[in-house]
Amino acid sequence: MNIPFYARHCTGQEETALLSCLNGELATDGLFTKKVLSQLSSVYSDRDSRYMLTASCSLALETALEMCGLSNGDEVLLPSYNFPSAANAVLKAGGVPVFCDIDPDTQNISLKDAAGRITSRTRAIIPVHYAGISCDMDRLLKLAGEAGLTVIEDAAQAIDAFYKEASLGTLGDFGCVSFHYTKNISCGEGGLLLCRDRSDFEKARCYRVHGTNRDAFFNGECNRYTWVCPGSSTAVSELCAALLSAQLSGLQQITTTRKRRLQDYLRFLKPLEQDGYARLMAIPDYASPNGHIFYVRFASQALRERMRKLLMEHGIDAKTHYVPLHISPMGAKLGYKQSDFPESLACYDTLLRLPIHTKLTRQQVCEISEIMIKGIRFYG
Ligand SMILES: *Cc1c(COP(=O)(O)O)cnc(C)c1O
Repeated sequence: MNIPFYARHCTGQEETALLSCLNGELATDGLFTKKVLSQLSSVYSDRDSRYMLTASCSLALETALEMCGLSNGDEVLLPSYNFPSAANAVLKAGGVPVFCDIDPDTQNISLKDAAGRITSRTRAIIPVHYAGISCDMDRLLKLAGEAGLTVIEDAAQAIDAFYKEASLGTLGDFGCVSFHYTKNISCGEGGLLLCRDRSDFEKARCYRVHGTNRDAFFNGECNRYTWVCPGSSTAVSELCAALLSAQLSGLQQITTTRKRRLQDYLRFLKPLEQDGYARLMAIPDYASPNGHIFYVRFASQALRERMRKLLMEHGIDAKTHYVPLHISPMGAKLGYKQSDFPESLACYDTLLRLPIHTKLTRQQVCEISEIMIKGIRFYG
C-alpha cells in the first residue's frame, strides 16, 4: 500500500486557467482575482465583499494585527498548540503573544484558560479552528465582548466549515483563511482576509498595496493614485489567483468527499475509542467541519508512536502535528516553560493525523482502520 498524507485535488481546469492568465495580464487584481472574489461571494455572502486576497494566510494575519493598532506591551491571547503565523503577526505589530492552553475535546483554545489570562493590557484574541472544527464562538464572542477584545479568527484550515450557520472567518472582527498547498483549496501559496467593519476593510486594502489608494483609484473612487498610510505588499499574484479560481470551482466536491472520509474514519475506528485506546476527533453540535484533518488522540505517546510506525510499515503516511509554541526555542525566549500548558503538551505527545484527501477511498479508510485496530490489540 502507498497512501500519502497529502494529495492535491485537481479540478481539471487548472492548466486552462494558468495559460489564459499567462496569455493575458499579470497586473495585480486583474480578471482572475476578480473572478475568485466573485466565486467566494457565495461562501462569504454576509461579508458583502469586505474581503481581499493576500499572498498567504500569514500575511492576512499580519494585516489584521496591523489594523489593531497595538502599542508596546499590548497583549494578544492565542493557543500554544498552533502554527507560528499568528504569534509572529502579534510580534510584528509590536504586541506580546500570550499563550493559552487548549480544550482536549477540540484542541481549540480553552476559554476557561483564556479568561484567566485577560489583563488590562489584553487587546485581542486569536482563536484557531483546528482541523476545520469551529471554536465555541458564542462563548468566545461573549468573553471577548465583555473584555473589549478584537477577535481575529485564524481560519487557515477552515474554508467551507461552519459555526452553526456561519462560515468560519465571518464571526470575528477579522478572519484569515489559507490556500497553502497543504489546505483543502490550494494555489501553492495564498490567503484571504475578511473584515467585519467597512473602515477596517478600507484601511486593510490600502495596507495591502503599499499603503496606497490603488484599489479605490482603479475603482474610480478617487482621482489620484498616491501614498495614504503605512503599508506593505501582501496581494496575491494573478497567476496564483488563476489557479485558485480553478480550484474553487471544485469546492463543493472537495468538501463533500473529505467529509465522507472523515465520517468513514469515525465509523471504522470506533473500536479504538470503545476499548479505551484512543479518543477520536470529536465534532461538537455547533460545528460543521470541512474534513481538512482527521486526527486521533491516543492514550499514551508510546501507543501513538507504535501506531505511526506500524502505519509507516504499511506505506501509510500518518503525521503528528504542532510542537506547542511554548516549548519551542522561540517560546523559551518569550519566557515560557514546558509545564505551562499541560493539554498542549499532551496533544503534542498523543495526537496522530491520518491521511485525508479527495484521492482517498472509503476502502482505503477501512484498510487503514483495520491495520490500526488489529495492531493495537496486538500491542495494547
Ligand atoms: C496553514 C496555517 C497557517 C499559515 O497559512 P499560510 O497561508 O501558509 O501563511 C496559519 N495558521 C494555521 C492554523 C494554519 O494551519
